[in-house]
Amino acid sequence: MKELREAILKQGFGIGHDIVKVDMFLNHRLDIALLTNIGQAFYEAFQDEPVDMILTIEASGIAAAITTAQAFGNLPVIFAKKSRTTSTLSSDVYEAKVYSFTHKSENFIRIAKNYLPKGSNVLIIDDFLANGEAAEGLAEIVRQAGAHVAGIGVCIEKGFQAGGQKLRNEGYRVVSLATVTGIENGRLQLADADDAD
Ligand code: 5GP
Repeated sequence: MKELREAILKQGFGIGHDIVKVDMFLNHRLDIALLTNIGQAFYEAFQDEPVDMILTIEASGIAAAITTAQAFGNLPVIFAKKSRTTSTLSSDVYEAKVYSFTHKSENFIRIAKNYLPKGSNVLIIDDFLANGEAAEGLAEIVRQAGAHVAGIGVCIEKGFQAGGQKLRNEGYRVVSLATVTGIENGRLQLADADDAD
């Protein structure tokens, strides 16, 4: 997606060899016009799949999940929770263990069972794809629910990490709107074209 690639090159930067910072439009400050177009791009990529709901993980996946849900005609969005808050989440949950690449820690993600009916067609959306842990955890929860993964859409794939290859090898249809191929002295290198071009 050309507009996203341009935003990454203009406003993003890298830290070390493997962290991509795009706080200016995706992870802290939100560029709503860009996010709306991201939602539209995911709609165009997955419109031929049966999709009943959008599934993401708090917090950074929620913005793109919302605009994607709007592009599909206001589908529900469910976001997996990372903390066990007894007041808001009952014990009747699906859960999966996810190793966080950015926080270097293992967490459980949880979704209340009643929001993920058996047989649902679920489109997974997230901001980044790195080692694929978050997407694998979400797909595992979909499996536990007896639902179906309609596809996996990520705004930015880090092509130098293994997640994209792993998920595609497992048979998931993965669409990334921009691919960072490397980081050199803080500068991000991008693939010339992406799935949405
Ligand atoms: P994975 O689970 O694929 O290893 O990593 C994806 C998750 O970690 C995403 O939900 C995203 O929030 C976070 N993440 C991974 N790499 C980066 C990165 O380079 N920058 C940012 N901002 N988040 C990342």
